[in-house]
Amino acid sequence: MLIARTVNISIFQQYFHTARYPFYSRVNPSSIDSRGFGQYLSIRSLCMPTLDMEGPYLLNDATIDKMVERRIGNYALGESRDNSFYPKYVGRSDEDINTRLHQWVGEKRNCPYFKMSYANNRKEAFEKECKNFHDFLSSLDNDIHPDKPDGTNWKCPVCGQ
Ligand SMILES: [Zn+2]
Repeated sequence: MLIARTVNISIFQQYFHTARYPFYSRVNPSSIDSRGFGQYLSIRSLCMPTLDMEGPYLLNDATIDKMVERRIGNYALGESRDNSFYPKYVGRSDEDINTRLHQWVGEKRNCPYFKMSYANNRKEAFEKECKNFHDFLSSLDNDIHPDKPDGTNWKCPVCGQ
C-alpha cells in the first residue's frame, strides 16, 4: 500500500516537473535537487550565444599593448555595463589582432571596450568570426558578412556563404 502510493506521487511529480519546466524536461527529474541545476546551466549555456573571449578591456593603446599579443585572433568591440558585455562589432585578424585593435581606438564612439581571443590558425579565426557574427547579428553594426581569408574558398559554417 505504502509502496504503491509512493509510486503514484512520483509519477505525479514527474508530470508536473515536465509541465512546469518543458525546456529541460529531459533532465532526470529525480536529480533536479542534487545535479539538476548544474545540468540546467550547461543546457542553458548551449542555447545562449557566447563570444567565448577574454575581457572586456578598455579600448585604448596602453591596454591593448598590455593585454593583447601579435597573433591571429578574434575580437569584439562594444559596451560594458552591469557586468555584461554588449558587442556592437565583431572582427578578426589573420595575422595580428594587436595591430588591428589599435586601428579601432577612437573610431567607434559606442564601443569603449573590447574582448578578444587567439586562434590557432586562419580557418579557426574565420569560423569563429562567422559564428560570432550570426549569434549577435541583431545587435551588431557590421555591414557585411565576414569575408573569407585571401586565397581560400572556405565557407561560413553557419550559413554556407
Ligand atoms: Zn554565415
